[in-house]
Amino acid sequence: MNDNNKSKILMHTCCAPCSVYCIDTLRAQGTEPVSFWFNPNIHPFTEYKARKKTLVEYSESIGMKLIIKNEYGLRSFISAVYPDFDNRCSYCYEVRLDETAKYASENGFDRFTTTLLVSPYQNHELICDIAEASAARYGVKFEYHDFRPGFREGQEKARELGMYMQKYCGCVFSEEDRYKKRKKKNQE
Ligand code: SF4
Repeated sequence: MNDNNKSKILMHTCCAPCSVYCIDTLRAQGTEPVSFWFNPNIHPFTEYKARKKTLVEYSESIGMKLIIKNEYGLRSFISAVYPDFDNRCSYCYEVRLDETAKYASENGFDRFTTTLLVSPYQNHELICDIAEASAARYGVKFEYHDFRPGFREGQEKARELGMYMQKYCGCVFSEEDRYKKRKKKNQE
């Protein structure tokens, strides 16, 4: 148990660009976030590595503590979502938020949040329901923030900082969706 973490918030971080606005907001409110990287949903490995590296560099540049739980989970992810690929996001949220709540509980944090709450492309309500369930399971608080109004501002700042900007959500299926959308657009 680390009592120094009581005043801080553990922030599950999906990627550096999404974290920019969340960190700025929390710090402006007087709360120091500790970033928690656990994203076995990001594939392939080169993409996983690129996003992790970007977060490591950004955390160092702004003096934010980063905890890395390194797990490249292609096989476990596909096994878990098979065969209902179209409803994969609930598993994806749960595996990440559950691990975050568990880490918070075991390391003296009394609350956690997630950068997933910044994206207008994610299922915001589902993220909250899943985070609340994980919080109850581990006896910590899920701190809700609607970061969405700052999504564009955060992405813009990330671009200005020269960050690596990913082109799809994370899993191989989201990469496929992107390709399908592009193909459809070209046929129109
Ligand atoms: S689309 Fe994004 S949120 Fe949904 S399963 Fe894939 S990586 Fe996870």
